[in-house]
Amino acid sequence: MKVSRPKPRITGIILDDRFCKGCNLCLHVCPKKLFSRGEKRSRGGYRMPEVLLSGECSGCLLCEMTCPDLALTVVREEK
Ligand code: SF4
Ligand code: SF4
Repeated sequence: MKVSRPKPRITGIILDDRFCKGCNLCLHVCPKKLFSRGEKRSRGGYRMPEVLLSGECSGCLLCEMTCPDLALTVVREEK
């Protein structure tokens, strides 16, 4: 019997300005290219990426798992 996991609904991507150091790793790993270089500065003075969240986000969590500073959270609702 095939068991399928529920598809998560992504409701947001949060970048924590206390921890982001503007390394842009999240920007490079996202297969959907949902990040761009932003203007907003983190508390440390680094330029943070911007997220263009759309229905295209697959919820793969690559961005969250790659962030070395645990500054990024993908917010998801299980259906
Ligand atoms: S969860 Fe995956 S598709 Fe969505 S923003 Fe992160 S890397 Fe991109
Ligand atoms: S990977 Fe993390 S620390 Fe680097 S730019 Fe993205 S959110 Fe900021």
